[in-house]
Amino acid sequence: MQEVNVRVAVRVRPLLTKEKLSGEQMCVRPGSNQNQLILGTDRSFTFDHIFFSKAQQEDVYKLCVEPLVVSLFDGYNATVFAYGQTGSGKTYTIGGGDITTLTEEEYGIIPRAITHMFKIMKENKTKTFTVNVSYIEIYMEELRDLLSLDTPAKDLHVREDNKGNTVIVGAREVQCESLDEVMSLLESGSAARHTGSTQMNEQSSRSHSIFTVVIGQNWSEPDPVKDTKVRQQSVNNLYGLEEDDMSHYMSGKFHFVDLAGSERAHKTGNIGDRFKESIHINSGLLSLGNVISALGDVKKKSTHIPYRESKITRLLKDSLGGNAKTLMICCISPASSSFDESLNSLKYANRAKNIKNKPIINRDIQSIRFEEMQCEIKALREELARQKTTVSLYADMEGLPDTGHIRELEDKVARLQTECGHYRMVAEQAYKHIMEIQEKEILSKSQNVRLRDWMELLEELKSTMPMNVSPEEMQNGMIKELQQELQKCRTHLESDEKIFAEKSREMNQLHDTIKEFEKSASLMESQLHEEMMKCQQQAEQLISQQIRIDELEAALKMTALQDSSLDETSSLPLALTSTGGISGRRPKSVPAHVYKAQEDGSRLRPASRLIKTSPAHFTLERVMQSFRARSQLLISRLEDEDDVLHQTFSDDEDEEKEEENISPEQNGEFGKY
Ligand code: ADP
Ligand code: MG
Repeated sequence: MQEVNVRVAVRVRPLLTKEKLSGEQMCVRPGSNQNQLILGTDRSFTFDHIFFSKAQQEDVYKLCVEPLVVSLFDGYNATVFAYGQTGSGKTYTIGGGDITTLTEEEYGIIPRAITHMFKIMKENKTKTFTVNVSYIEIYMEELRDLLSLDTPAKDLHVREDNKGNTVIVGAREVQCESLDEVMSLLESGSAARHTGSTQMNEQSSRSHSIFTVVIGQNWSEPDPVKDTKVRQQSVNNLYGLEEDDMSHYMSGKFHFVDLAGSERAHKTGNIGDRFKESIHINSGLLSLGNVISALGDVKKKSTHIPYRESKITRLLKDSLGGNAKTLMICCISPASSSFDESLNSLKYANRAKNIKNKPIINRDIQSIRFEEMQCEIKALREELARQKTTVSLYADMEGLPDTGHIRELEDKVARLQTECGHYRMVAEQAYKHIMEIQEKEILSKSQNVRLRDWMELLEELKSTMPMNVSPEEMQNGMIKELQQELQKCRTHLESDEKIFAEKSREMNQLHDTIKEFEKSASLMESQLHEEMMKCQQQAEQLISQQIRIDELEAALKMTALQDSSLDETSSLPLALTSTGGISGRRPKSVPAHVYKAQEDGSRLRPASRLIKTSPAHFTLERVMQSFRARSQLLISRLEDEDDVLHQTFSDDEDEEKEEENISPEQNGEFGKY
């Protein structure tokens, strides 16, 4: 699996009119190359992409996001997240704001990406697509469903599915048919986001938001190795394959994340609720910073990545160090007054550059296995076809089916053999004549030497090529060789057939496994349903108990009121008691045995004193405490069951730690990491 770094882009927005009017100076400028930026006088940073104030929304989309949308259709997950201080242009860049007020040129990444996705889907006629959209925000460390505002936060849970992907259980996923539908969900969800006015941005997002689009793709392909010859049929029979096309499924998930501003409290002038929000926002960003540090610090090589410190880090687990292709867009303001914040953001982004992800294609595992097997079959079929050609050639040569070419060759061989025989005969006659001439000793010395050489050469030839081998004998030798070759091919064929049979068995086993998985999935589904019903019943019980507590509290209060009014009307409790008047009745808040004891011996004590140190009051406390303890017990039991229920999704769920509630403000490191 190939590792790729998280890509980091920096976007410097233009000075806003307000900033220009107040005489703000620019503190950011381009460096010597296009990927470099200089902050202040000498702090230089290099990133994958840098967009200065003149860059348009389209430039950002085309350069950084378009490739991710394309790879989404190849089955990869992708994430784009915007980071930066409040008012630096995150929402503007991501495009999660109010799009009704924007021109098309001003559209940010989300509207552009979904338009592009629908264009790709329209152009591809060979596949069927499904588009599912969800939109959630994390506000004050609680999840909120922006597409279903009535869903209580406690019904939304971050979990890991059986493939290790992070999912939000309970969030509404809307299946969309058209671009307009997705746009209207984006619009309505964005309008529901928590925003508030700060000194730095009139429409500051006070939450982290995640807009997610899941594209599912279904297509069927003809068997790539379909062979129209007879062999195909026998292979199919062996393999138990249908002639039908093979269907495939693949999906990709795209997260668009608009993080809340990384502001410092004093800059925004936040007080009260805004201040509390800031603490939550900053603690989420602090955790994100810790995750980025742990993943990106090459020197540290941390083994523990603190994803569980906050909801945003849990949700971005796949995107940071996981299996998605991720782009971080760090937005900064060019104003000198934001120098510190810009420096912090750039340092943050600089670390993120080192994070390595391992993107994978989200294919159905069975489908991948099937495809691998198909490749194997293809290779085997090719091998078979090759051997078949060789075998048929040999069969032809055995003389069964005659071919003109072979005849021609045979004639040529015969002709050559006759010619060869003639030459041999002539050569042998010449040999004899030369021997006779040599014996007469009429040749010069050098002529004798050359003749001897020639004779030796002829002797050599005679010994290597027996002179009296008939053409039939030669043919027989050749046929023998060919027969041996044929035998070898047959053995190969047999072993191939065995392999086919083996693969066929494996296929059947795989089919069985799929069926088993399906069965266990439906079983788990019904168990889940049952457990959910149980939870609902328990919640109802809790509510009725709470109502009962309220009733009891009210009743007790009433009794206390009645008793105190009694106390006020009787100026002489002892006298009234002795006349057997109102105080003759036992106050409801006093248990009967205590009252009896008082009647027996301690009746001389004033009644009002009994009421002030009222054991009934004490009992109310106790009753309340026990109810609280019981409901706490019930809630924790519910949570336990909830966890157990989701054990199947996440093995390491029990690792979940209690969140550390250390505010970054307390550490004196607000907004830093
Ligand atoms: P953030 O989400 O980071 O708090 P916003 O996206 O709301 O910031 O931007 C703050 C203001 O700056 C908005 O009025 C927005 O229109 C403006 N703005 C941000 N980036 C740009 C840009 N690249 N070009 C023009 N205006 C921008
Ligand atoms: Mg914003």
